[in-house]
Amino acid sequence: MITPPLGQDKLVGFFKKAIREDSLGHAYIIEGDTGIGKKTLAGYFAAMAVCAEGTACGECKQCKQTIAEVNPDITVLSADGKASIGVDAVRDFISTVAYRSVHGGRHVFIIHDADLLTVQAQNALLKVIEEPPKGVLFLLLCKQKAQLLRTITSRSQILKLSPLPKEVLSKIVPDCGGFELTYCKGNPGTLIRICADEEFKEFRNNAVDVVAKVFTDGDEALYDAVDFFEANKERKEDLFTITLYVLRDVMCKKNGLTPFIINADKANTINAVSAVLTPATCMRAIESVLEAERGMGKYGNFNLAVQSMFIRARNAMKNGNNKQMC
Ligand SMILES: [Zn+2]
Repeated sequence: MITPPLGQDKLVGFFKKAIREDSLGHAYIIEGDTGIGKKTLAGYFAAMAVCAEGTACGECKQCKQTIAEVNPDITVLSADGKASIGVDAVRDFISTVAYRSVHGGRHVFIIHDADLLTVQAQNALLKVIEEPPKGVLFLLLCKQKAQLLRTITSRSQILKLSPLPKEVLSKIVPDCGGFELTYCKGNPGTLIRICADEEFKEFRNNAVDVVAKVFTDGDEALYDAVDFFEANKERKEDLFTITLYVLRDVMCKKNGLTPFIINADKANTINAVSAVLTPATCMRAIESVLEAERGMGKYGNFNLAVQSMFIRARNAMKNGNNKQMC
């Protein structure tokens, strides 16, 4: 048997049943964050759909080809690091839709990063999704289905991937630490990435210290933090996550929810920040981080956004403390 993805029993069961009862649809949208397991699940669905037994048995000719990634009945299109997938790539991709499957069963077309399809490309795809030849199955993977045309989503079934519980995550990466398990927010891809990244521990330690000092130290610390963010901007998402976790931990501390603190190994640092923030100023700091993260978009000015985020957070703290003193 080809091993099913861990933690996806419900979706796998749903798909297996549809194959068994011959009620499989012709297009599914698999929606979820980067790293959540969309490709793994789509790969398993495809393996089941083309398997001679319909079970991803691992023994039949089709399965052997699937395992070796040479099954002619599974065709994959991805952005390959490009900003979008254009109409020519889609036309080329679907050029074999009308042909019979090589093995006489189903032909699966998988599109990774479907949210990067241009409108023209989606319209080209729509033509085959509207009237697909028998045996054709489309699996469209995307972060948010809202990025796809309504005409596509309305003709597809939506399967949403949710974060995985810690018990499952610790099976996926057996020797990961408690901090990493919490930090990844149920995302196996993030967990695998941070556990494999030898520099992540040091980066995270430094990031927590730098963020904490924005609140506990003088103005100089604010500019050190901006420099640190700029120097590590390729880890943009991690920087915002770590900043939010520091402030979230402060809220936990203030509310007596110490067992829920994520940065438990940095208790002294969290205590120091907690000593200078009130619940209200901490909330305002959290808001300024969320706002900076939202406003960032793809092409936002990172340095400016970070600078204004820390200035607003610090001002909230100063104003709050002044009010308290009055
Ligand atoms: Zn098989």
